[in-house]
Amino acid sequence: MYLPRHFQAYELVPPAIFASRKDKSFELIDERVLITLDTLRDTFGPCTVNDWHWDGGFEQSGLRTTDAPQFSPTSQHTFGRAMDCKFQEYPAAEIRDQVIQNRLLFPYITFMEDDVDWFHFDVRNGQRIVLWSPVTQKTQLV
Ligand SMILES: [Zn+2]
Repeated sequence: MYLPRHFQAYELVPPAIFASRKDKSFELIDERVLITLDTLRDTFGPCTVNDWHWDGGFEQSGLRTTDAPQFSPTSQHTFGRAMDCKFQEYPAAEIRDQVIQNRLLFPYITFMEDDVDWFHFDVRNGQRIVLWSPVTQKTQLV
């Protein structure tokens, strides 16, 4: 079992999941995601996924549950294979560029969202690295 060095379980799951499972919440997140989060944090500095623990508004940026307005049964978030990261020191577009240029550092990322101001990555079964824009609906292999 991989336990991330930089993230607490309450940063990665919604409040109800954390309330019932505490640190066992990590069992719901794909190990490849946890390893990637630590590498991202080591490389790019402070990064927020969920901040509800500090009274912030993000509750569903990691594991996503059926009560979320943006819930989708086929979203990678539903399976603990996706995270939406907000970095303090870099805009999301810069993170995407850096991941593409340094892909050996991030061997598990197979998919990223483009044209959004958060850094969505996931580790779905697929080719590396698919960049998909929710704005234009365009998909490219990068
Ligand atoms: Zn996402």
